[in-house]
Amino acid sequence: MLKLIARILLVVTVVVFILYKLYGYVTVSQTDVPASRNDLDETVQRFDQTRKRPFEQTERESDVFKTQNTQQLHAMWNWTNSPHSPTDSVFVMIPFCKARHNANLQTKFRTCVTSMSAFSSAHIVLFIAGDAESREIADDIVSGLQKKNVEVHHIDVQGLGEGMRDTISTLQQHFSSTSDSYYTHTLFYLSTAIHRLAPPSLHRLIMLDADLKFKDDIRRLNDLFDRFLPSNVIGIAHENQPVYRHVLSMYRQSHPNTRAGSPPPEGLPGFNSGVLLLDLDRLRRSERYNTMLDTDMIQSLSKKYLYKGHLGDQDFYTLVSLENEELFFVLPCGWNRQLCRWWRDNGYKDVFDSYFACHGPISVYHGNCNTPIPDD
Ligand code: UDP
Ligand code: MN
Repeated sequence: MLKLIARILLVVTVVVFILYKLYGYVTVSQTDVPASRNDLDETVQRFDQTRKRPFEQTERESDVFKTQNTQQLHAMWNWTNSPHSPTDSVFVMIPFCKARHNANLQTKFRTCVTSMSAFSSAHIVLFIAGDAESREIADDIVSGLQKKNVEVHHIDVQGLGEGMRDTISTLQQHFSSTSDSYYTHTLFYLSTAIHRLAPPSLHRLIMLDADLKFKDDIRRLNDLFDRFLPSNVIGIAHENQPVYRHVLSMYRQSHPNTRAGSPPPEGLPGFNSGVLLLDLDRLRRSERYNTMLDTDMIQSLSKKYLYKGHLGDQDFYTLVSLENEELFFVLPCGWNRQLCRWWRDNGYKDVFDSYFACHGPISVYHGNCNTPIPDD
C-alpha cells in the first residue's frame, strides 16, 4: 500500500514538473532568446535604422526664440486670448522640428492636422513644439485648413529643453541607443516632464506624433480623460509590436512566467507614445510619478529589468508600468493604431499577431517607422 502511494506521488510529481516546463516553454517562445546582450542590442540598432531621424547632429539652434526664465516660458503658451471657452477646447501639442528640408515630415504633419481638424467638433488649441525654421511651414499648413477650428501657438523646443535639462540627461542615458544631439533628446522626452513646464492654468494636454491620421473626433479622445481611475495620470495605448518582448528578453529568460513584455490582455507589452493623454494636474501632484523621474529610480529599475531602451519617452513609460500599472489608463488600441510591422520579419513572426491585433473601430492611424497610412 505504502509502495503504491509512493508511486502515485512520484507520477504526480513528474506530471506536474512536465506541465510546468511546458507552460514555461509556451510563455517564453523560442523567438525571444537572443543569445547575448550584443545580439539583443544589434537587432535594436537595425530597427533604429528604419526610423532614423533626419536631425543634423551639429547644427546650431536658431536664436529667434529667446526664452530663458519661467515667466517667459509660460508666456509662450499664451492662449488665453482665445475667444473660445476652455471647456469647449481641446489642448494638443505636436512636436514639429527640422521640417524645412524634410518634405516627408511636412506631408505627415499636413495629414495629421488636416484630418484632426476635419473630424473635430471642438475648438483645438494647438501648441507646436518646434524651431524657427519649421514655424512658417506649420503656419502655412494650418492657414490652409478648410475648417477654422485650429488656433496655433508656437512653443520653442529649445526653451523647453532648458527647463528639463536634468531630467533629460538621465532619460537619455538609459533610453537612447545612439549619441544623438541634445536637441533631439528634448523632442523625444518632452512629454515626460511637460507638466513641470506648462503654466498651471493648463490642466490637460493631448500630445501627438505628427505621423498620425484622424478618422474620428478628437473631442471623443479628450473625453477619455474622464474615464481615468483616480490613480491614473497618463492615458497611453499599448505598443503594437513585440519590441519590449525583445528589449526585456534577458529578464524574461530568467523569469519565464513574467508579465513583463508578454502580449495583452494578460501581459504588459509596453506602451507607444504616439498618442498621449497627459493629466497635467495629476502629474504635478503625483509623488509616485515624479519619484519615477529621479535618476536613482530610473537606474535601479533599468538594472532590475536589464533594460536598455531606444525609443525615448515610451521606454520610460514602459519601464515605469512594470511596477506602477496604476499610473496608466490604457487607451483603446483604435486611438493609436500603429502600422509598423518591422519586428514581424525580424525574429518575432510566431508571436507577432498577439501584439499587433486590434479589433474594434479605428479612430487614429499611426504610420510609425515610416509606414504609409491607408487612403480609405
Ligand atoms: N519629429 C520632428 N522632426 C523630426 C523627427 C520627428 O518633429 O525630424 C517629431 C514628429 O512629431 C514625429 C515625432 O517626433 O511624429 C516622433 O517621431 P516618429 O513619429 O518618426 O517616430 P516613430 O513613431 O516612427 O517611432
Ligand atoms: Mn510616430
